[in-house]
Amino acid sequence: MAVADSPVIQQYKRAKAQYPQAIVMFRMGDFYEILGDDAAIASDVLKITLTRRRTAQAGDEGIPMCGVPYHAAEGYIGKLLEANYKVALAEQTETPEQAKKARGSGALVNREVIRLYTPGTLTEESYLPAESSRLLVALYGSTETNRMEGALAWMDVSTGDVGVRSVTQGSLPMVLAGLSVGEGVTPPETETLFAQALTQNGADGRRLVSVHPGIFTPHAAQESLKRAYGLADIGGLGLPDEAAVRAVGGLIGYAELTQMGKLPRLKVPSLVASTARLSIDPRTRRNLELTESLAGRRADSLLGVLDACATSAGARLLARWVAEPLTDVAAIAARAEAVTLLVTHAEARTNLRNHLRETGDVARCVSRLLLGRGSPRDLGVLRSTGTVLPGLASTIQALAPKLPPLLAHHAAQLQGLGKLTAKLAEALADDPLPALIREGGFVRQGYDAELDHLRAMVTDSTGLLEALERKEAAASGMALKVKYNQVWGYYLEVTKAQLESAGQTPPAHWVHRQTTTQAHRYTTPELMALERDLGSAGAQAQRREEEILAELLEAVKAHSMALLDVSEALATLDVLANLAHVAARQTWVRPVVDASDAFDVENGKHPVVASKVGDFMPNGCNLTGGQLWLLTGPNMAGKSTFLRQNALILILAQMGSYVPATRAHIGVADAVFSRIGAADDLAAGQSTFMVEMVETAQILNRATPKSMVILDELGRGTATYDGLAIAWACVEDIATRLGCRTLFATHYHELTALEGTLPRVSCWQVAIKEWKGDIIFLHRVEKGAATGSYGVQVAKLAGVPAQVVARAAGLLEGFTKTSRGRGVMRVDELSLFAAPVAAMPETPQENPIEAKLKRVDVDSLTAREALNMLYELKGMA
Ligand code: ADP
Repeated sequence: MAVADSPVIQQYKRAKAQYPQAIVMFRMGDFYEILGDDAAIASDVLKITLTRRRTAQAGDEGIPMCGVPYHAAEGYIGKLLEANYKVALAEQTETPEQAKKARGSGALVNREVIRLYTPGTLTEESYLPAESSRLLVALYGSTETNRMEGALAWMDVSTGDVGVRSVTQGSLPMVLAGLSVGEGVTPPETETLFAQALTQNGADGRRLVSVHPGIFTPHAAQESLKRAYGLADIGGLGLPDEAAVRAVGGLIGYAELTQMGKLPRLKVPSLVASTARLSIDPRTRRNLELTESLAGRRADSLLGVLDACATSAGARLLARWVAEPLTDVAAIAARAEAVTLLVTHAEARTNLRNHLRETGDVARCVSRLLLGRGSPRDLGVLRSTGTVLPGLASTIQALAPKLPPLLAHHAAQLQGLGKLTAKLAEALADDPLPALIREGGFVRQGYDAELDHLRAMVTDSTGLLEALERKEAAASGMALKVKYNQVWGYYLEVTKAQLESAGQTPPAHWVHRQTTTQAHRYTTPELMALERDLGSAGAQAQRREEEILAELLEAVKAHSMALLDVSEALATLDVLANLAHVAARQTWVRPVVDASDAFDVENGKHPVVASKVGDFMPNGCNLTGGQLWLLTGPNMAGKSTFLRQNALILILAQMGSYVPATRAHIGVADAVFSRIGAADDLAAGQSTFMVEMVETAQILNRATPKSMVILDELGRGTATYDGLAIAWACVEDIATRLGCRTLFATHYHELTALEGTLPRVSCWQVAIKEWKGDIIFLHRVEKGAATGSYGVQVAKLAGVPAQVVARAAGLLEGFTKTSRGRGVMRVDELSLFAAPVAAMPETPQENPIEAKLKRVDVDSLTAREALNMLYELKGMA
């Protein structure tokens, strides 16, 4: 027979039913308990013991349970969020005494979910990295046709930033790659698609996306928008279509759900046209190491070398600029113009950056305060930031009589906080302010008479009683004492002798309490009030401070739009000054950026590699008019570096930044594509070659004449002739059909025959110097084709034993002769339609070692493969 759940289990199950997607942490006395399936997950993630809890009134096996002490909950919640779980915190909403009073003895204490923590809706400093964002992203799309079409909206709950753009099934992964997604939400129809797109970006899409049908209906979405922006009609928001309305509306609806109905102050959604950003697919982002290196380090990425920002909001904005370069020539020029002014005014730039260092993370403070999670410290940050603003504004104004529009705009945004700053300065105590409201003591002495009085009572009760004693003595002309006992509390005592010898009657306001043998005891209304106040002064002082805090919060709320403007201005000024600082420090140049098809860079450098190797060799590159450079050179010569450096220069230019070169002229590209590295997807379970071909297909299908393409060692994942054939066909297709600016590094020397037969194709090599059988890498890119691949020399440099190097050199010579003798392949015969099969060498009668060696393409071996091969050959011998 089934036994009924115990009342507390029933209560737990109700909470869990309300938040099925979250791990419910259920407050029981000094612990939060986690039950059922949640317990198994939590014990695993948190490394805590799993036990069982009885569920029914009597004899059952119980359900899995684990628990964490309530005072350490923050750390545990952080770990669960880090692992992309959501956490619902169910608190006791009354004390056991209150429960007893309300519902009789044995009554169960009420518990309710008071907060839902989700990875994309966090505001606490402890859960959020200062220098990166965790965005909440909503996808609404129609799937009526085969291909999804819709809108993607994003929000930074911690700052109130909101944006939306239209997406298609094809562009979704690329758009997502430009956003740092903390969490996604979507209706059921688009769940799989959304999760897959996130997974392509290297995240666990299934875990990140949750499904909510209700909030995306046209009605619910409109209502959410009206509520959030206080509008009767949403027309003014300028959302372009129904998909955008439903994406942003659903996004807000979800944010409200997680914040228990509250919302931070939201900015009007920024609309980004799908063509307004340089499109960079997820793999290209990784290959180019835009925001982190392949090894996962921020410091070794483009962002890492660019970021010397003075503020964390600036660092976050810079990450966005790097992730999403622009395509609009005027918008790029606006940024570059501001950077130029700051490059040329070194002293003002230093001043500006020093001022910026004194400002705080305004947007995050405001969001926390408006969500009711702020602390006196957050108010302190607004005060100190407000104090710096006038100095900042005048530093910018002094830069030039007529500021570039972008600087003028942001300088103007710095106005409007004078009153709030003054109020905060008046009301708040000096730093350091407490982190918690209940610690108290954050209101300045002298700001509020009532609070001062209450505090005085707490700290100086004796003084107050003595003051009253003096006052009464002076008024009555008698010597008297304020005393205290258990029965009467405080009283005034006058000796009988005093009273009689003075022949006086007590003043009218004295109330007689008691007569003893020696003395008369009185009280006064004032003394009674003082006594009452002394008893409750502590609690009253706290309450009064909370009232003052509430007033200050109202003032913050009233200024929230101005505060968000200030925060945007500070972040943008920081990024501009930072780009100027980096440019000036490294003597970069401002590129000419226009709508042409130019790509002409003189003495370009790889911004990251050049910051690490002292004597970086600068190299020019000219792809103007859709040139395709075929680049050859031995391994380690610097081919990949050269490819990447040019893509990075394009990205920097389209961010509005200066570039590492002595001169650059760049026509904006619509997209950058790359195919680099052959052995990096084994972990994903796909064959290297398959991955290579999928990527190549994407590039050939998506690139336009306005794109930039860099291809490194295409065809390497398969047998030599296959690879060569494919590489050959790709070069032909890019050069004749696409005509887009392309760098193509290859170890197939045969390809160099294409120069002169195809339009816009030219051969370049990374120079080396041979010296006594060794090679010296010059890292210099020059016209021409490499004469050999120097694999043997590179093997020697890598420390392959001398006898093996010598043997390999001998073998190589043999192979080269044989292949020449047989005429293995005549390049002019090799085109896509003349199948290379005919040219394949026949299988000769030879010993297995020799046979194996002949099949090896020495050029394409990695050092590791070469080593493995050696072991194998040795084994065979
Ligand atoms: P490849 O792709 O030809 O095998 P890489 O581009 O990986 O060669 O470069 C190999 C190494 O050579 C890099 O790690 C870098 O340290 C160095 N290098 C590359 N280009 C330059 C350069 N222009 N100046 C100085 N060192 C360079």
